Amino acid sequence: MTAPRIDTDTLRRLPKAVLHDHLDGGLRPATVVELAEEVGHALPTTDPDELAAWYFEAANSGDLVRYIATFEHTLAVMQTREGLLRTAEEYVLDLAADGVVYGEVRYAPELMLNGELTLPEVVETVQEGLAAGMAKAAAAGSPVRVGTLLCGMRMFDRVREAADLAVAFRDAGVVGFDIAGAEDGFPPADHLDAFEHLRRENVPFTIHAGEAHGLPSIHQALQVCGAQRIGHGVRLTDDIVDGKLGRLAGWVRDRRIALEMCPTSNLQTGAATSIAEHPITALKDLGFRVTLNTDNRLVSGTTMTREMALLVEEAGWGVEDLRTVTVNALKSAFIPFDERRALIEDVVLPGYATAL
Ligand SMILES: [Zn+2]
Repeated sequence: MTAPRIDTDTLRRLPKAVLHDHLDGGLRPATVVELAEEVGHALPTTDPDELAAWYFEAANSGDLVRYIATFEHTLAVMQTREGLLRTAEEYVLDLAADGVVYGEVRYAPELMLNGELTLPEVVETVQEGLAAGMAKAAAAGSPVRVGTLLCGMRMFDRVREAADLAVAFRDAGVVGFDIAGAEDGFPPADHLDAFEHLRRENVPFTIHAGEAHGLPSIHQALQVCGAQRIGHGVRLTDDIVDGKLGRLAGWVRDRRIALEMCPTSNLQTGAATSIAEHPITALKDLGFRVTLNTDNRLVSGTTMTREMALLVEEAGWGVEDLRTVTVNALKSAFIPFDERRALIEDVVLPGYATAL
């Protein structure tokens, strides 16, 4: 396949939307080093470049459980008000520098309780940092809207508490909910009470499913728990044979359920074998509502610009494909319809028109 070349500057300028990106997986290496020194946490190395390389290699094990273990060193510096304010603000500025105009950031407040903060204080502090970042990005001429998804950890017993927090902060920047953590052995229906509560309260949610575990996990997330989107969903291809969709794949495509796909992350956890063969391309071509995401920018050594470049260079994507996944993401974003439409019509489509 001969891919049309699109230079990196053009890719960086294209307006982007990211639905699946973890706050604790996207810190700047230099920030991890500085904050770790302040709180007395020992790192594998104190050189920012070496630390970035360490993350990428440690996360490259082909195993989701080991991938998740690398978060120990980012979470260690996210236990204080100062650490959360700084990482949240920098998170927004880094998205803006990457050309992102809409982002949904996700994290589990229950993992940030080793310091002085309570669950509500964690959420308030992150929102404060995100707001500061959005104000700075707008003042610098790169406005980015960031909504928050609160996560419960599927292997622990505080998912319902996290869901209650999402309801409590729904008018303060939290736009939805998710469960994160190791998928195998921890099916979404274990937390049915939390999802039923969110549905009663009209709070939208996505569920990590079909990454380490296959079709039953995706089926349960959608049809038992009621998720409106699926995190990853790469294993949905198990339900597609020679381009013919099984009933679950048909449900996902025909109901326009967004798949939050994260190519580099999937290579690292073994959920996909190469960018060229990653299911995102086949699913896009079959008309699924696929979206492109980073998952964890530090841990996976990536950005939205880099993910786009990989698909252009290795999977034959053109600008139209990049526009499609960007519009898809906004169509399935958890912010109100009028805001989504305004971003598509006023920002994304004009931005791609100049590149086409
Ligand atoms: Zn994820």
